[in-house]
Amino acid sequence: MSIDTGIHVAYLVASICFVIALKGLSGPKTARGGNLIGAAGMLIAIGMTFATPGLSRFGLMAGAMVIGVAIGFPAARLVKMTAMPQMVAAFNGVGGGAAAIIAVAEFVKASPGSLAVYQVVEVLFGVIVGSVSFAGSIIAFAKLQELMTGRPITYAGQQLLNGLVGAGILGLSVAACVDPHNWLIAVIGILGLLFGVAFVLPIGGADVPVLISLLNSFTGLAVAASGFVLNSVVLVIAGTLVGASGTLLTRMMSAAMGRSLPNILFSAFGSVVTATGGAEGAEGRTVRSASAEDIAVLLAYSQKVIIVPGYGLAVAQAQHTVRELAELLEARGVDVFYAIHPVAGRMPGHMNVLLAEANVPYDELKEMDEANPEFQTADVALVIGANDVVNPAAKNSPGSPIYGMPILAVDEAHNVVFLKRSMRPGFAGIDNELLFDPKTTLLFGDAKDSLTKLVAAVKAL
Ligand code: NDP
Repeated sequence: MSIDTGIHVAYLVASICFVIALKGLSGPKTARGGNLIGAAGMLIAIGMTFATPGLSRFGLMAGAMVIGVAIGFPAARLVKMTAMPQMVAAFNGVGGGAAAIIAVAEFVKASPGSLAVYQVVEVLFGVIVGSVSFAGSIIAFAKLQELMTGRPITYAGQQLLNGLVGAGILGLSVAACVDPHNWLIAVIGILGLLFGVAFVLPIGGADVPVLISLLNSFTGLAVAASGFVLNSVVLVIAGTLVGASGTLLTRMMSAAMGRSLPNILFSAFGSVVTATGGAEGAEGRTVRSASAEDIAVLLAYSQKVIIVPGYGLAVAQAQHTVRELAELLEARGVDVFYAIHPVAGRMPGHMNVLLAEANVPYDELKEMDEANPEFQTADVALVIGANDVVNPAAKNSPGSPIYGMPILAVDEAHNVVFLKRSMRPGFAGIDNELLFDPKTTLLFGDAKDSLTKLVAAVKAL
């Protein structure tokens, strides 16, 4: 077998690894293995690239890899679960930027007029999509990292300006196909960056994770375009897989939020503070709060308790304590499981990853469709740091911005217990009537502190 054939076979093996990895990543039990298989595929692809005959500048490539590992490895090890979306945004942006730079470099390297129109189109696609993804991801990162306001930034004539930049990119791209020049590609790249910024500014913090998933699919497509430019089949396959899976994930996230993608991208959701909530909103209305000891009695003498985790559980890093409480209850004969909403937390799978980290058995995690019929017969729904995903306004209030979002049917349980710090609303900024329901009890405080108190109180019974 010639070295060329060997390399192609290895690339094929790497591509198969990527497909198997995606399959593995689709379930909590197989995700860890899937991730390792994907990484192995990537190692094969990188190794084979170095084996390509006629390759030069090993030093430069090795240096770039050392810098990448030095930044990426500690960043991934140290990142907190709550900061995961911004890390994905940053890594995604770098991928998009790299794809754009590859396209520009290949264009500049080619002798003038030597590229066929379809090759110029490949370059343009990589430059435009890559630069939009790079700039958009940087703004998404800044929003999530709170380096700038998370609220939608809107101004008069915004749609018109975005439309003009888009039209400019399109017009110059046609000109570049007819008469390609370096300066045209440069201007198109700069307009792409501008469009990326302008496109993301009006998207509110709560919607940014969906946007990141969309930008991720853009980066995949830009990488696939680089694959065409570089004549690399493995890049085309890897980029297409990222593009396709990112698109599917974006659709699934929009559906789980009960909103259309155009609504998420263009409605500046969250620009108006819709909540009458917060401590002020609760004025004059009574809520029932209780001590940890009282709630421990309620839980310990129940037959069925459904735990509903949300973003606050991740903030409080209370995953280990909640597992301890669940085990204590189970030891007393209580039937306990966790109901997982697809967008609980700030990214898809957030709760699964968090609870897996605490070794919660996978068969105790029930997806929304499986969990919802169970609430009617639950003695207690224990809601820990979740709000929007249990807000009945999504089914009862046609005027509510979250109307239509599928929610966990916590309101159907015999008793509802909320662990949260205040009366503040969740990410969508919308009041939750369930907090005022007579069957609801609140235990105010940080979720980890409250759970620690509950564990102690159940042990003392
Ligand atoms: P929410 O943001 O609705 O509510 C979180 C709750 O946690 C708040 O009520 C807050 O109340 C409480 N909280 C925060 N910190 C703590 C703490 N340390 N201890 C105890 N409680 C705490 O979260 P949900 O998980 O219910 O909903 C997720 C939201 O994110 C949805 O709006 C969803 O659409 C959005 N989203 C999710 C995506 C995903 O993929 N998962 C993607 C895009 C958007 P208080 O301040 O009073 O403590």
